[in-house]
Amino acid sequence: MQIVVKKFGGTSLANVDNIHHVANVIQQSQQKQPTCVVVVSAMAGTTNNLQYWCNELGGALGPNPDRDLVLSSGEMITAGLLSLALQSRGVPARAWTGWQVPIVTNEDWGRCDAVFTGASALQSDLASGVVPVVCGFQGVTPGGRITTLGRGGSDTTAVILAAALKANVCEIFTDVQGVYTADPSYVPDARAYGDVSYDAMLTLSHFGAKVLHANAIIWAKNNGIPVHVLSTAKPDQSGTWIREKAQQVCGVVYKPVLSWRMNSLPDQKQDMTGVSIIDRSLSAKGFHFLTWVDDYHAVKSQWPDATCSDPKMLVSLIGSSSHTAQCALRNPPGILIEHCVQQPNILAVMVEQKHTYDMIRHVHTHLV
Ligand code: ADP
Ligand code: ASP
Ligand code: MG
Repeated sequence: MQIVVKKFGGTSLANVDNIHHVANVIQQSQQKQPTCVVVVSAMAGTTNNLQYWCNELGGALGPNPDRDLVLSSGEMITAGLLSLALQSRGVPARAWTGWQVPIVTNEDWGRCDAVFTGASALQSDLASGVVPVVCGFQGVTPGGRITTLGRGGSDTTAVILAAALKANVCEIFTDVQGVYTADPSYVPDARAYGDVSYDAMLTLSHFGAKVLHANAIIWAKNNGIPVHVLSTAKPDQSGTWIREKAQQVCGVVYKPVLSWRMNSLPDQKQDMTGVSIIDRSLSAKGFHFLTWVDDYHAVKSQWPDATCSDPKMLVSLIGSSSHTAQCALRNPPGILIEHCVQQPNILAVMVEQKHTYDMIRHVHTHLV
């Protein structure tokens, strides 16, 4: 059986008209791809709103299973509504929560990883011609508590299901026409890639290309699932393929970081669990390191003595960039570079967040 997993993001499901459109896209695709599983995000803005309420009422608590319960609720609305819209068109459909599937995860609240995915319930639907519409972003612990896979994690749900069902492809429908040389909402003349390798995409996503969740790429690479990023508004456009072999790419991305300091080297010399340290250095002033903003609680819980700056922005040039583009990144006119990070295929600089827009546009004009 040729199975396709189709994931629709929050902007594609933001209101009733958008949901009607997505139902039409699925119905029309059924002529070519009759066996599909659909994964949905919450309506655009919903999860931010839920996060705001959690912060207002329990912000100081840090990661917490009840926060996951609240955050996961937005996807139940869209899964149910899209299933209703499909049924109204005569397409048999059924909404599923993550825990009903089940997608079983660890207990890394707020950013869990799947450890097991059931496929049999969805396979029964597919065998009887029903389109399963699955809540993205949600999981469940072996003990039965609701979990979430990290912000943007519906992409990961889609690839996890594609792997469990041995699907031929995982299609990610979103509000842009693929993966671009820079965020097209900042850079109108950014170009969409035809294809990107798993490794290059993982670096782009890890350093800020929000269009695909980094964990989704890891799942896709480990299971050999081709990922096709497509526009919901223009589903017939060619989009971008993410697969093993692809052309070399170069892009500019951005992501908020925290700059940390400790007076001395921590006792525990190995990396902290669940924290990606982007750069580190030791000087007379102490031990200095950079992490993503999302890692704040993970750092504080393991190294309570560490202190950090206000969030800054890491602007990164990824891939085989030219000398000209690298010079443009290192010497932006009138912008102070606070720190520079160099790794194979990555050159990144830390700046004040207010400079993000100018930095991206400046560097992109020098991208070949
Ligand atoms: P969805 O709601 O469909 O999951 P997201 O907001 O998570 O969509 O991701 C799509 C957004 O990612 C685009 O609207 C775009 O602004 C942003 N983006 C950032 N970097 C890139 C990039 N390099 N290529 C494409 N989109 C990007
Ligand atoms: N709704 C979740 C979020 O906003 C998951 C997703 O959109 O992929 O992060
Ligand atoms: Mg997303």
